[in-house]
Amino acid sequence: MANLKFLSVMVVALSVQACSHSAPPPNAFSAEVEHGGTLKTTAFPLNRPGPNPGLKGRTIAVDSIEDLQLAKGEVVLTFDDGPVRHNTRSILDTLARHDVKATFFMVGQMANAYPALVREVASAGHTIGSHTQNHLNLARINTNDARQDIEAGKASLERALIPLDRSVAPFFRFPYLADTPKLRDSLARQGIVVIDPTIDSKDYWVSTPDQIKNRIMKALRKRGSGIILLHDIHKRTARMLPALLATLDREGYSIVHFVPGPDAATKVAPSF
Ligand SMILES: [Zn+2]
Repeated sequence: MANLKFLSVMVVALSVQACSHSAPPPNAFSAEVEHGGTLKTTAFPLNRPGPNPGLKGRTIAVDSIEDLQLAKGEVVLTFDDGPVRHNTRSILDTLARHDVKATFFMVGQMANAYPALVREVASAGHTIGSHTQNHLNLARINTNDARQDIEAGKASLERALIPLDRSVAPFFRFPYLADTPKLRDSLARQGIVVIDPTIDSKDYWVSTPDQIKNRIMKALRKRGSGIILLHDIHKRTARMLPALLATLDREGYSIVHFVPGPDAATKVAPSF
C-alpha cells in the first residue's frame, strides 16, 4: 500500500516562477474562407472566434531549459502527483479525444502502487517525467536526502516501464516547486531538465471545475502562452479538463508536447 500521506499536505501556497523568456511574435493562423464563391486566405488573430486548425500543436524536443520557449497561443499541459485510479484514466480519455499529448510528473510511490497505469500513460504517447519518490519538500531536507529521493523516484518509474522497454524522460519537477540552487545544479549536470510551470491552476484548492478552468483561462489570456500546472490526483481536475480543452480549442490555442531531445539522454551522468 502506498504511503499517500503527502496528499494531505498538498494544500501549500505554490509560487510560480514567471517565465523569463520573451515569447516569439504572435502566431496568427490562416484559413481559406469563401468570399462570394471564391476562396481567399484570411488570417484570424488568436483569441478571436473563427475556424482554427485544432488543438494539436507542435512537438518540441527538449534538451535544456532554453528549449521550453512557447510562441503566443501555445499551451503545455502537465499533470503532477499521479498516477491514480480513475482520474488518470479519465484524463487520458479526454486527451485522446482531442489527439493531444501531455507531460505527467509522477511520484515514485504512486508508480509503485499503480505500475500498470504508468505504462498506460506511456503507451498513449504521453511524456513521463519524475517528481521524487515521496513528494517531500526538498528545500527543507538535507541535499543528500533530497538527491536520494529524486533518484528513488526515477528508479520507481523506470521499474514500472521495464515491460515496455521504455525510459522515463529526463524531465523533473520539484514537489511544491520548492527548489535549491544546489539541487538545480545537480540535475542540470545529469542532463535532467527542470520544467517549471508558468501558470498555476491551483486545482489543489477546493474549487469547482469551472473555477479552475476560469483561473487558467484568465492567466493564459494575460500571458498569451503557458506551461500549466495540473494534478491528476484530483477528481475536479479530471472533470474540468473537457471544458478547458473545448475553450482552448474555441479560442485558437494549440497544445504543445514536450519530448526528450536527442542530446538529453546522452548527457546523463552515471550518478549524482
Ligand atoms: Zn507535486
